[in-house]
Amino acid sequence: MPTYEFKCNKCNEKFSLTLSVDEYLKRKTFQCPKCKGEDVKRVFSSFTAVTSKKS
Ligand SMILES: [Zn+2]
Repeated sequence: MPTYEFKCNKCNEKFSLTLSVDEYLKRKTFQCPKCKGEDVKRVFSSFTAVTSKKS
C-alpha cells in the first residue's frame, strides 16, 4: 500500500497516511492529526507513489 504524505496548511504539521489507492480516491478530505483541520495538501516526496490505477 502506498504512503501518502500531507502537510497541514493551518499548523504546518507534516503527516503521512498509508491507504490503499481505492481508499485514497474515495476519501475527499484528510484530517490533520495535530489540529484536526481538514485544510491539508498532498506532499510529494522523493519516492514514487502509485497515484493511478489501470485495470
Ligand atoms: Zn494541522
